Amino acid sequence: MFRTVCQEMQSPSPALPPPLPPPHHTLGPKPPKPAPQINGEVPDARESIDQRFLFCHICQETYRRPKVLPCLHSFCKPCLEDYAAQQAQDGAVPCPICNCQAVIPKEGIAGFKTNTFINSLNGGDDLANGPRRCDFCVKRGKTASAILKCLECREFLCGACSENHKLTSITMHHHTLSLADLRSGRYSREIRAIEQVTCDIHKNEVIMLYCLKCRQPICRDCKVNAHDGHDCAPLKDATERHVSKVSTLMDKLKSHMDLETKMLEDYNDYSSKLKLSHTELVRAIQQRDDELCELVHKLRDKTIEREAKLYQDEKKYIMEERDRMHGNINAMNTAHSFTENILKHGQDVDIMSLSKPILDRIASLCLPQAIPDRKKFSFQ
Ligand SMILES: [Zn+2]
Ligand SMILES: [Zn+2]
Ligand SMILES: [Zn+2]
Ligand SMILES: [Zn+2]
Ligand SMILES: [Zn+2]
Ligand SMILES: [Zn+2]
Repeated sequence: MFRTVCQEMQSPSPALPPPLPPPHHTLGPKPPKPAPQINGEVPDARESIDQRFLFCHICQETYRRPKVLPCLHSFCKPCLEDYAAQQAQDGAVPCPICNCQAVIPKEGIAGFKTNTFINSLNGGDDLANGPRRCDFCVKRGKTASAILKCLECREFLCGACSENHKLTSITMHHHTLSLADLRSGRYSREIRAIEQVTCDIHKNEVIMLYCLKCRQPICRDCKVNAHDGHDCAPLKDATERHVSKVSTLMDKLKSHMDLETKMLEDYNDYSSKLKLSHTELVRAIQQRDDELCELVHKLRDKTIEREAKLYQDEKKYIMEERDRMHGNINAMNTAHSFTENILKHGQDVDIMSLSKPILDRIASLCLPQAIPDRKKFSFQ
């Protein structure tokens, strides 16, 4: 929403439109050709307006009877009706562009204000409903397709009627435009300057007043009927007052916009700094983790190495001890068998002659043994 407003505000200032085609009497007796030589470099009114103002966001086409929502986004009336049929909830419809909730008037979609500005740029309601009949022929009970519109008479003319129109002294200076030119919007600025907008209710009455109570432009007939007793001002004066008021408001809006733009920039700056600091923090955490892991791995390797050495030492010691014990047992066995044989089968002289070595040997084998104190490992 913010960006849209911002971009809409930046639309280029309107440049001068191309000159209106000259009155048809200057073109001689041939059928008038209202489209004059247009200098391609001079932008027309439509080119100087942001393109988003000219096409309906829903159907992507030139607006048909554009209606404007409170958020100031416009859509074709038929498009908005279809959209509301699907999307409206609790008497409100979300704007298809900015999602702002628009309360639907009691008259329905028709109750939203018509965007008369876009409407006139696109040729107005007159051209919204397909081919036009010649108004002059219709008055005489005939039918013929119109090819031109007289801006002063605000009537559509067929080829034959336009010939008559430019030969009559009263109307010969009138400005006419082809329907293609009307639809193109090239002369919308001039058309609006020449054509005075008439009342929807009182067809031939020009809208010249502004009802201050109802806040809407009205005609003189409206003033004495529906707006009887209401405070009114000439439309021109009311417009001047409104333009000066709205210009001040636009300055205010612009400074709000600048402020918000600055805030947005600050936030963008903050966001990128935040991202950077987050990335750095994550990297630092990862680095610390890597260092700790390496330290733990080193400690593990060292512990395993020390444990392996301890295991090897212990294994070697046990083997040596076992060898020593085997030796002792063999020696004792030998001494035991030897002594047993002598005592059983020897003569007294045999027994006594060997008494000392036997006693010595048994005594040496029966010396108290140092009990090994080695329980380095516990296997719980
Ligand atoms: Zn549309
Ligand atoms: Zn909107
Ligand atoms: Zn006609
Ligand atoms: Zn005319
Ligand atoms: Zn009226
Ligand atoms: Zn009123």
